Amino acid sequence: LSATILALDFGGTKHAAAIAAPGERQWRAVRRAPAPPGADANSDIRTMIALARELLSSASPLAVGVSFGGPVDTERGVVRLSHHVPGWEGVSLPRILEQEFGVRAAVDNDANVAALGEYRFGAGQGCRSLLYITVSTGVGGGWVLDGRIWHGADGMAGEIGHTTVDPNGPLCPCGKKGCLESLAAGPFVARAAQEQLTEHPGEGRLLLDLAGGKIEEVTPKLISDAAEGGDDLSRRVLDAAAQALGRAIGNAANLVNPDLVVLGGGMMNSGDRFWKEIRRVSCETALPQLRVEVVPAALGNEAPLWGGVALAEEILGLAS
Ligand SMILES: [Zn+2]
Repeated sequence: LSATILALDFGGTKHAAAIAAPGERQWRAVRRAPAPPGADANSDIRTMIALARELLSSASPLAVGVSFGGPVDTERGVVRLSHHVPGWEGVSLPRILEQEFGVRAAVDNDANVAALGEYRFGAGQGCRSLLYITVSTGVGGGWVLDGRIWHGADGMAGEIGHTTVDPNGPLCPCGKKGCLESLAAGPFVARAAQEQLTEHPGEGRLLLDLAGGKIEEVTPKLISDAAEGGDDLSRRVLDAAAQALGRAIGNAANLVNPDLVVLGGGMMNSGDRFWKEIRRVSCETALPQLRVEVVPAALGNEAPLWGGVALAEEILGLAS
């Protein structure tokens, strides 16, 4: 086995480890494990090291690149916190991994790492700058500018999910109203459809049928299926989410004018109409002199792992 890079993805509910040789674009091997209920930072780290040891046995990797599902202070090399798992505050994850594997390790926030993964190995290959947005249970984002992750003064750049789209909109988990996340993330879209079904009895028949007649069983997937089948209520709900995304993207494009906007996450499987509406409103919001190119992510749920490879290649001086 030739020397490989170790990529780690600490997710909120599942962990993944993979190895790849520098320059290769296929995994040598991948291991995944769920984060058990009651997990804390220590058990997460033990789980991840065990996965990595299955891949490496006693060999050392060349370097370690890590995606972490929460904010990371990359200057100090410490995790700020996890929104899912207790005990991560102030943990020096790079140092722990460096001691374990005897090589350098780089850790960054998952949306940033996924952005870098798409830039180097996915939809962003060949461009100079991109905005990556993942729309699933939340809305995360990351900037790659001139080939590097842009962290911003406080390491908080890319938080497009908490840009205000509608000051009178729903309450966001961050405490503000009408953030993009509260208008476009899966659970909020499901809740919007549920409210519409309650307020307009007789509408959304197809959606309600697909949910077995139970409003509380409505999911983003069912809304997308019903919209595809011509359900007006479902189309209205998805259009509103797409318009929120389009506004946020158009505003971001006006500020930074990236080559590309890459969209990933489960909500982006909501059909052609959803994509068309995002693109329409993005262009409508941006100045006419700007080209706003919005494309699907290419790496799916492996974007954070490939971004880990890209981080490790930066450590090794291999990033072009
Ligand atoms: Zn918010």
